[in-house]
Amino acid sequence: MPAHFDLLIRNGTCVLPWGTEPTSVGVRHGRIAALGVPAEATADQTIDAKGLFVLPGLIDPHVHLRDPGDKAVESIPTGTHAAVLGGLAAVFDMPNTAPSITDAERLSWKQDYAERESWCDIGLYVGGTKTNIPELAKLELGRGVCGVKIFAGSSTGDLMVEDDEHLERVMRSGRRRIAYHSEDEYRLQDRKHLFKSGDPYRCHMEWRDVETAFLGTRRLMALARATGRPAHILHVSTAEELDYLKDFRDIATCEVLVNHLTQVAPDCYDRLQGFGVMNPPIRGPEHQAASWRAINDGTVDTVGSDHAPHARGKKQLPWPDCPAGLTGVQTIVPVMLDHVNAGRLSLTRMVDLLCAGPARVYGAVGKGRLAAGYDADFTLVDLQRRRRIEESWIVSPCGWTPFAGMDITGWPVATIVRGNVVMREDEVLGTPVGKLVRFIG
Ligand SMILES: [Zn+2]
Repeated sequence: MPAHFDLLIRNGTCVLPWGTEPTSVGVRHGRIAALGVPAEATADQTIDAKGLFVLPGLIDPHVHLRDPGDKAVESIPTGTHAAVLGGLAAVFDMPNTAPSITDAERLSWKQDYAERESWCDIGLYVGGTKTNIPELAKLELGRGVCGVKIFAGSSTGDLMVEDDEHLERVMRSGRRRIAYHSEDEYRLQDRKHLFKSGDPYRCHMEWRDVETAFLGTRRLMALARATGRPAHILHVSTAEELDYLKDFRDIATCEVLVNHLTQVAPDCYDRLQGFGVMNPPIRGPEHQAASWRAINDGTVDTVGSDHAPHARGKKQLPWPDCPAGLTGVQTIVPVMLDHVNAGRLSLTRMVDLLCAGPARVYGAVGKGRLAAGYDADFTLVDLQRRRRIEESWIVSPCGWTPFAGMDITGWPVATIVRGNVVMREDEVLGTPVGKLVRFIG
């Protein structure tokens, strides 16, 4: 009897941990059962991936799906719908919602809700505050929790731990890697008076300057070394930090954002105005060049979108009244594929940053590589397909993208989550199958 599978992906070029090879993949019970399946094998469903690259299911480790919050802007069902359309098999969702996910009751609500409504698999951050430090050691071990998130500088929402005393107490509270928004809150507040409402949008990067980010990261690294607590510095945006972090590989991993790799000041502020405003800010070309160097020398562990939607009307307010944050969960894969086609990184490195990297940094179980026994998560990619990003394609209810009008070469054509084909050729299929990602506690 020939081998039988639930799903077979034939004739594709697979990006395996040990290299890129033309091979077939057999799936049983939601997991990868075999690579290199014999020709006579049969399956309930077969996908002909001729001309396509078969990547392990890509992960966006940094999204804000705003749920609970304002469903007219974004929610878990709409944000994960956007994710699978954009080629993502999993997202890790931030806790600064309204209300924030900072205690066992709210976490429990979100765990149940996410498993009912999510189109892709989902990891959940819990927020650290000055008042929930005693609970963090337990919360970080919760089902589906990828880690604790600390806002050391202010951004959207009311979560903040800005002083060294409380930061040190957070670091001594548990043991898993903590993800940080690193900007020095004191410097932000000290320099706020230098600016006024209606100043040009580019003032955003002058207020939240290089020293604001670098000082925040120096303080966090000193405390991480003193406490021995692993750190993940989110959205590193300066050449100075990327250089500095090379000396902290024993204790720190780091992320850069697709926006910082793709958009550049002052163009983003002149052209996009409030729709170019995010934290930390998009900076000048020397910082973008440093980010690419850090992608290519291995300094960077993960790339995220920091998908952070706001209502269009609010983004049209003058600076600094417009909220900071840009959409990106639906566009991160196409934009990164375009960078691959432009020769800025290899497809293998892209998979490392959007799959193996997040799995390693956060300790995701069964994710991050195409290998027997791993979850049958796949992103199928047509590296030749040319397409323009249009706002009409965006399904987040806020309805805008800072990448509108960008011509892309390379496009995700199917998303498969634990053996379920959830997206094929722009069509989202079936019902939400997302589950909480499992993490090593
Ligand atoms: Zn964020």
